[in-house]
Amino acid sequence: MKDETKIVTAGRNPEGNFGIVNVPVYHASTILFPSLAELQKTHVARAAGERVVSYGRIGTPTTWSLEDAVAELEGGYRAQVYPSGLAACANAILAMVKTGDHMLVTDSVYGPVRVFCDNFLSRFGVEVTYYDPLIGAGIGELMRPNTTVVYTEAPGSQTFEMQDIPAIAEVAHAKGAVVLTDNTWASPLFFKPFEHGVDISIQAGTKYIVGHSDVMIGTVTATKDYWPALQKGANMLGQSAGPDDVYLAQRGIRTLSVRLKQHMENGLAVAEWLKGRPEVHSVLHPALPDHPGHDIWKRDFLGASGLFSMRLKEVSREALAAFLDDLELFGMGYSWGGYESLIILADPTTYRTATTWDNTNPLLRLHIGLEAVDDLIADLKNGFDRLNAVK
Ligand SMILES: *Cc1c(COP(=O)(O)O)cnc(C)c1O
Repeated sequence: MKDETKIVTAGRNPEGNFGIVNVPVYHASTILFPSLAELQKTHVARAAGERVVSYGRIGTPTTWSLEDAVAELEGGYRAQVYPSGLAACANAILAMVKTGDHMLVTDSVYGPVRVFCDNFLSRFGVEVTYYDPLIGAGIGELMRPNTTVVYTEAPGSQTFEMQDIPAIAEVAHAKGAVVLTDNTWASPLFFKPFEHGVDISIQAGTKYIVGHSDVMIGTVTATKDYWPALQKGANMLGQSAGPDDVYLAQRGIRTLSVRLKQHMENGLAVAEWLKGRPEVHSVLHPALPDHPGHDIWKRDFLGASGLFSMRLKEVSREALAAFLDDLELFGMGYSWGGYESLIILADPTTYRTATTWDNTNPLLRLHIGLEAVDDLIADLKNGFDRLNAVK
């Protein structure tokens, strides 16, 4: 079955729910058992990793509906739900490392993951080395005998470098390391991590899976080999997402393909228009043929989402503020993946350590929503008029 069909069928169970199309929202903490025998049977099954309704925190049919849908779409064995995308990142890492391990993390990683590595993992004796996102098979030179985790993300947060994940995975596996990827940009539809050597794939469901800017949630999908450690880790750390949020995430999946196709089309149209503007230094969008990572994108990815960056030619802070402050359709704020367009200023010089970044040309990250492209372009054009009036 194609993905367009899978997003309709995955994780649903009308037969088990009175014919109700969506798996209902089960609010639960206590689960009552009719007998001692049943209680003990459930206890044994749960300890063996079986799916049983035993306590609210451990999961309900609502949770499993989302987990099954994400696992099927990403192409992994099973998935675990977390209360945010960052919780998914942190828990995926924690489930894989122990004191004395060394981990390799791309320099283009989502910022808060770097904060977690530098300030939390370091307290437990896990050493992290950041690497150039373009390193490819060269990652072998950074691998140590105790390197157990290689963490990837493509394209890179804010800066959109494409990583050669199959090449990195081949080297990592040869040396016995597990490969993680943050697959949020592509969503489960536009990159199939498990077909490219990834063992564990993370989604900030907050973005495209939810798609409506109103829920924090995360998922991690693993291969059969890594699943037990991931699940045990989540249970030990008490990871549990609220049922209403889980429900909204599984509902978001039902329209993921139509939304993403539109985000891609709108995003490319705006990106190409921006490329022709005299105020713009460059546009960082992997689906544009002149992007340095375009060949990798074309080889490994099935589409592009609506998130990319642009760099402006040198501009004063006043002119930049004039551009940003009065945009009507582009909101200024964090996160992305909802139906609406967003823009935010970023400065990679404040966090990069393995690579350098020249911030002479201010970096703006755009999320292109589902509005009409003409209206978005008109909004940006008015912004450039204001910028030029100040400059
Ligand atoms: C937003 C984001 C996260 C974190 O997700 P939250 O739900 O905001 O915690 C992780 N990775 C990437 C690439 C993101 O964009």
